[in-house]
Amino acid sequence: MKNKKNNSPFKAMVIVTLVVILGLVALAVMNNNDSNSSHDLSFEKQPPVEGQPLIGDVNAPVTVVEFGDFKCPACKVWGETIFPQLIADYVEPGKVKFAYINVLFHGEESKTGSLAAEHVFKQSPEDYWAFHKEIFNHQPPTQNHDDLWLTKDKVIEVASNYPKIDINQLKESLEKETEIAEVEKDMVLVKEYKVQLTPSIMVNGTMLEDPFDYEKIKSLIEKELQGK
Ligand code: CA
Repeated sequence: MKNKKNNSPFKAMVIVTLVVILGLVALAVMNNNDSNSSHDLSFEKQPPVEGQPLIGDVNAPVTVVEFGDFKCPACKVWGETIFPQLIADYVEPGKVKFAYINVLFHGEESKTGSLAAEHVFKQSPEDYWAFHKEIFNHQPPTQNHDDLWLTKDKVIEVASNYPKIDINQLKESLEKETEIAEVEKDMVLVKEYKVQLTPSIMVNGTMLEDPFDYEKIKSLIEKELQGK
């Protein structure tokens, strides 16, 4: 009698514990399935690329957009690893056009880099992509990436390597912020497309959860190409 009384709460506890464990297992399985599914974001419209620096055939059927920040180490890595593959596999064959939109997540320095790049794009469009890459090349090592480096002096120094860029014009443009409207246009797009991290990569209207997943970028491009 005494034993039976003591057993009941024990049995109940075992059952409760089992139920809790089963619940946790079910939850873990659900989460696991969840992580296999796509968290790419779909937008009704792809970002407009008129007036943005663009590589490739303007009539290419698919558009890839990078939302990037000159002060972002991951953007530098993306530019060195994923970008060359994308250019060789899709831009050069005329299937994709690629555009870059400025993100100003690192304050004044991002702004300086963006104002300079927009001016170079206006003044000497054929030098834009080389200048763009060279700015990224001047990023300090990742562990020091918060150090001040993306200054007016730095962008002027970089631009001085391109004979077609008029340095006095660039200096004046930086002083007067003549390209602020272009930078603000990009900021509006960053907001509209809910950009949370850089780089953010869009294939037509789809923003990738993982910008470094080149297989996914390829499969989205192929899907869009087949849809055309
Ligand atoms: Ca722009």
